[in-house]
Amino acid sequence: MTTFARVLITTTLLSRVGFAQIPGQSTAFTVGSATASRGQTAYGAITVPAGIDSGLVIQIAVIHGARPGPVVAFVAGSHGTEYVSIVALQRFIGTIDAKALAGTIIVAPLLNVASMEQMVPHINPVDRKGMNSSYPGNRAGTQSERALALVAEQIVKPADVVVDLHGGDLDEDLRPYSYWIRTGRAQQDDASKALALAFNLDVIIVRDVDAANPASARSLSGYALSLGKTTFVAEAGRAGLVEPDAVAALVSGSQNVLASLNMTAGVVPKMEKLVYVGNDKRVLSDRPGMFYKSVERGSYVVQGQKVGHVTDYVGRVMVDWWIGGLVDWWIGGLVDWWVGGLVGWWIGGLVGQGATAL
Ligand SMILES: [Zn+2]
Repeated sequence: MTTFARVLITTTLLSRVGFAQIPGQSTAFTVGSATASRGQTAYGAITVPAGIDSGLVIQIAVIHGARPGPVVAFVAGSHGTEYVSIVALQRFIGTIDAKALAGTIIVAPLLNVASMEQMVPHINPVDRKGMNSSYPGNRAGTQSERALALVAEQIVKPADVVVDLHGGDLDEDLRPYSYWIRTGRAQQDDASKALALAFNLDVIIVRDVDAANPASARSLSGYALSLGKTTFVAEAGRAGLVEPDAVAALVSGSQNVLASLNMTAGVVPKMEKLVYVGNDKRVLSDRPGMFYKSVERGSYVVQGQKVGHVTDYVGRVMVDWWIGGLVDWWIGGLVDWWVGGLVGWWIGGLVGQGATAL
């Protein structure tokens, strides 16, 4: 099944790229100010001019393989304090030999520059908007919207495959996982699944979306899916730490994507264990305070097990009946923590169904 899906996607992508190529125009590839000839890596930027607020420069790399093949976009830093994903893509660029590559790679390690520079999680502090929730953007809008309009045109649309990396934000204590986002279109879903498997994170959260619904296309992955692209999301890291294992997981996963598309000579490792999570839920605290976990991320918990408590800001434990009230959600599930938030603390649990039949 897996092997078949990989063969299918490779064939599809190669034929699509081959169809799109125009003789004489395939010798160089340009994104923003970066133009790479075949067999070269070029650095440059997508410049977002100032408008109703300040402008923005999004630095990128374009790796144009010596031989034709798919166009794959790797994007991180929509959340600028998810450092693992940003560092991983920086390192990933240097691991690719353009002379040995088939196809083309667009790498954008940091979209949300102000989030990084001002250390503001989740949003772009310039306009308080999400840079993973404002696609397809708006050239006449605020900074996030103007930026995403250019990202949509220059990164997403030219790509056959879009890989969206995240890294466990300042207030997230996550275990590594991928999202396999299904649209109900078998070919698109099989292709996305093949890449999620190749990426080789051992937990895959399965989400079903209506790709035709504009509300589903506000995120990078949803927007790419709405355009018929193959896409998936991977996340490793936690709490703003740049842990070597998490960085390595995202770098090697990205390399595996290229290998699975036959863009490099790499070998995709066989996944030894895999858990599909079919139903994830997040729970908001009903009051502000500070959350203290009782179990580690990635733990399996049983119904009725206490998973943490909330204190007020002088350290008094507040009633935690609401944790006990979550018992229906803790059945045999993996627990991930999304702790905190600017307007009140919240925790999130994932319910794992272990649905190996998927
Ligand atoms: Zn993120």
